[in-house]
Amino acid sequence: MLIKTLAVGQLETNCYVVSDDKTLMCAVIDPGAESGVILDYIESNKLKVGAIFLTHGHFDHHMALSAVADATGAPVYIHKRDTYSGGKPEDHKLRDTGELRGYADGDAITVGGLVFHVMETPGHSMGSVTLRCERALFTGDTLFRDSCGRTDLGGDMDTLLESLRRLSSLEGDYEVYPGHAETSTLDRERRFNYYVRCANGDYPAG
Ligand SMILES: [Zn+2]
Repeated sequence: MLIKTLAVGQLETNCYVVSDDKTLMCAVIDPGAESGVILDYIESNKLKVGAIFLTHGHFDHHMALSAVADATGAPVYIHKRDTYSGGKPEDHKLRDTGELRGYADGDAITVGGLVFHVMETPGHSMGSVTLRCERALFTGDTLFRDSCGRTDLGGDMDTLLESLRRLSSLEGDYEVYPGHAETSTLDRERRFNYYVRCANGDYPAG
């Protein structure tokens, strides 16, 4: 498994291209902006995109979605709680005109020789997910190095803390690939991340 990080757009969203070096199949996680940069990487490495995964519905994670989906023909997965359909736009959600595939907790999606397991981790948005593949966790804006996502864009703090508690209770260590900023490890966040420690009851309430 090879993980390429492309920090795209004004908000420097981490778009990850996760490829299987044996089959050259890859998944694109959060094509946030700069479709040219993403497609260049895919093309110059002769990759075939098997799936596009969105960790959640916020615009900075999918501004290049239609360009990448159109160019590759790959199916797009998102948790349906972060989508809306019909005429009236809903804040902080992605419009579904019928082409989006929903995924939910416990789903497993195969791309080449890689299997991506879906964990619902709501709180930053109510449809936020974490994708687990081998020893990597793609946490979107749920878990950052030393921090977690904001909850004022359709989220909820208690729900987010519960999701952080659930992530930190995974067995063993993982590489953490967040939606913004630097990578980390789950062990590091268990030890140093204030929010993860709060979620685990390391600090008294209030
Ligand atoms: Zn977000």
